[in-house]
Amino acid sequence: MPPLRTEFLPFHRPTIGEDEIQGVAEVLRSGWLTTGPRVQELERVLKERLGCGDALALNSCTAALHLALVVAGVGEGDEVITTPYTFASTGETILYTGARPVFVDVEPSTSNLDPERIEAAITPRTRAISPVHLAGHPCRMDPILEIARRRGLAVIEDAAHAFGTTYRGRPVGALSRFTAFSFYATKNLTTGEGGLLACADADDAARARKLSLHGLSRDAWRRYAAGGSWAYAIEDLGYKYNLTDLAAAIGLAQLRRFDDEQAKRRERVGWYREALAGSDAFELPTDPEDGEHAWHLFILRLRPGTLSIDRDEFARRLQEARIGISVHFIPLHLHPLYRDRFGLRPGDLPVAEDLYGRAISLPLFPGMSRADVEYVAAAAHGIAAACRA
Ligand SMILES: *Cc1c(COP(=O)(O)O)cnc(C)c1O
Repeated sequence: MPPLRTEFLPFHRPTIGEDEIQGVAEVLRSGWLTTGPRVQELERVLKERLGCGDALALNSCTAALHLALVVAGVGEGDEVITTPYTFASTGETILYTGARPVFVDVEPSTSNLDPERIEAAITPRTRAISPVHLAGHPCRMDPILEIARRRGLAVIEDAAHAFGTTYRGRPVGALSRFTAFSFYATKNLTTGEGGLLACADADDAARARKLSLHGLSRDAWRRYAAGGSWAYAIEDLGYKYNLTDLAAAIGLAQLRRFDDEQAKRRERVGWYREALAGSDAFELPTDPEDGEHAWHLFILRLRPGTLSIDRDEFARRLQEARIGISVHFIPLHLHPLYRDRFGLRPGDLPVAEDLYGRAISLPLFPGMSRADVEYVAAAAHGIAAACRA
């Protein structure tokens, strides 16, 4: 083992500079804190960057997923095909609509929804397919989009990890009818809390926009602006999902630096690859064949049969070495909510369960030094060497 660090190495630390602080200060001084000019600017810049029909800034990716489902017409008794290997949001938003998530197992090489298994899960109640670009690795979108087109299904991508991911030369966000991004505190681009719904169709976006603010006939910005009218009508059952200008100002500052930050992520992934090479106990994440990985997460897997300890013990020992780690994700069907409501059991989705059982997410953020990366790798090698099977 390397000599113990004195300072804890966090799993994640956001890159916040003077630019973010300045941007928020300007909003605070402007007299307009909530959805307004900064949000409009963020939406314009993101729409351009992604090349989508329209982009709607929201207060979370969860909100974006929910609105996409509602606008796609998913409701009571419907089914949505998705992956079990994801965060709570992907499943719960389907439940919000009264629909049922139908979990389809993932590919062993990418941990993403396996296109080959989708067709068999389609029933007359299926309305949508919701793939997740896990860790920022692009899903195989062409076969997914082809099935969706042929079967008349909406595609709603959970791109919480995939701001910066590309597939066959196009950014995730420009590929399907709906794409939901997260700007949560730990994500590659953050607004503290926030999200984005990228829509191919401007009418979908207009409908989502209305539902994001109580289903009102016009938004508050227009009501309170000079010359605005006080009158409004509640035309639909809506929600309260709008983003604030305070948050958007952080996002705009983050965006200006985003490509440099992504280059730093890729550099750190390269350092990990070098430093973790040479142990048969480790499986390293794969590089995509047909796109660019956003490297939101670096997930190390333990190879079965090589060690005398399990993942939980390996993770505990990394934490003992003052390294912040995480595990992504406990498959949704193993959680009591889904297990009990839908009668799901361990063994139902064996690939996702196997991948989860061997996974440890290592620290990965642009501010990590090469010494930080090498320390993590040395600790992992040290634990593996002490625990050979
Ligand atoms: C973070 C995350 C979300 C939720 O993002 P919020 O912006 O916090 O709502 C959804 N899906 C996945 C896969 C995530 O990791």
